[in-house]
Amino acid sequence: MATKSGKYWVTWANTNAKNSTNIDDLDTTFKTNVKAFKKALEDAGAKIVISTTKRSKKRAYLFHWSWKISQGKCKPTDAPKMVGVDIEWDHGDIAKSKAGALEMVNGFGLAVPPKSINAPSLTSNHIDGKAIDMTITWAGKIKVKKKDGKEAEVTYFPNANNNLILHAVGDSYSVKKLKTDAPHWSHNGR
Ligand SMILES: [Zn+2]
Repeated sequence: MATKSGKYWVTWANTNAKNSTNIDDLDTTFKTNVKAFKKALEDAGAKIVISTTKRSKKRAYLFHWSWKISQGKCKPTDAPKMVGVDIEWDHGDIAKSKAGALEMVNGFGLAVPPKSINAPSLTSNHIDGKAIDMTITWAGKIKVKKKDGKEAEVTYFPNANNNLILHAVGDSYSVKKLKTDAPHWSHNGR
């Protein structure tokens, strides 16, 4: 029997639908590229902290539909079923359905309007293992090897979105920066 939406699903997801911080969980090609880029940065003296690699598809499903239902952006019956996630979004009463979804939004710590006006995505590159969130830090200037072996001198910027030389080094390894999301790099820059 399906379990109604609510905080039960936060606990469930934290056991059964976790995100990974392990590079080895990435898509094969992207993983190889990330490892090469990371090695070049570390060889140059940078420090890398990874916050997310592959995102669980089930977790993304729970994020997306709890956000939309709680915010009244769709009807509880609009959420499709997902194999392996036996959730009932429709409590048979719109206020109760929204309250159940909101318990999940709060439990997951999702940003809602006005902080975020977009539902968490169902199609992030993270879900396919083709994106990584990482914070790269160093002091002053370092010389980082590009894939062709040539060195680039890279100055530290507190906001990685503005560091075009660092982006170019990543590009050489086919690890591309999304310039609106500070820790986010992917196979296509999205
Ligand atoms: Zn990301």
